[in-house]
Amino acid sequence: MICSPSLPPNSSTRCSADHAPMSIISFSHVAKKYPGDVTALSDVSMEVAEGELVYLAGPSGAGKSTMLKLIAGIERPSAGVLLVSGQDMRKLSRATLPYLRRKLGLILQQHQLLRDRSVLQNVMLPLLVSGSSVKEAEQRARVALERVGLGDKVTLLPQALSGGEQQRVSIARAIVHRPRIILADEPTANLDRASGKLVIDMLQAFNAAGATCIISTHDERLLQNADRVVLLDRGRVSVMRDADSEVGA
Ligand code: ADP
Repeated sequence: MICSPSLPPNSSTRCSADHAPMSIISFSHVAKKYPGDVTALSDVSMEVAEGELVYLAGPSGAGKSTMLKLIAGIERPSAGVLLVSGQDMRKLSRATLPYLRRKLGLILQQHQLLRDRSVLQNVMLPLLVSGSSVKEAEQRARVALERVGLGDKVTLLPQALSGGEQQRVSIARAIVHRPRIILADEPTANLDRASGKLVIDMLQAFNAAGATCIISTHDERLLQNADRVVLLDRGRVSVMRDADSEVGA
């Protein structure tokens, strides 16, 4: 069992064996194989409590993106049990996925912003797809863009913005529906130091406002002040570190 020794006995939100009720994400002996017999994850067990900020660290190819894709329902576990907000991800039906996605904000490595739509339209899109009126979508998209400091850039096309600003548009698009869980895959990759810091500050602010955040990174600098780090090595959890302890897996 992987469990933080710093927690009192009745505070078992990070223990992998008991599926504590406060966990919003629970990996129990999860494995993921891709076609071609590529093992991306082996026997991963960890819990994420509601409201936590967790960094997934490890070198390229360690399995960080795969963990995020499993949580997002983009990929399915090959073995083990993964619960996201109580949903068993191996049993997730096509019909249920959109409901789960409404609880998730995804910030993927490629911004995937639409180049022929304005910044505002890009951020409105997920709301329109999930049935909001144009008026409501516009209002909420403007608020989200204000929150990432881009309130004055709403009419521009994404390619008119810097890399850091484009990443902030993708953050606005990810949080516009006020998700409970934010998943960010290497959100500072390809950004200069100042832009990267701004992006991390924003994610921390959403976390402080109550969202559970999981951020993958191979940037050691981000980890220095992190409360909780899960280090992956070739598909396995090698170390879990939290504010005052380090536990080898
Ligand atoms: P990281 O995000 O830490 O760089 P990934 O989760 O992207 O790691 O990849 C973990 C392993 O899974 C790597 O060996 C990678 O090549 C492999 N992999 C990732 N996606 C696929 C895929 N769609 N098909 C086959 N192998 C994949």
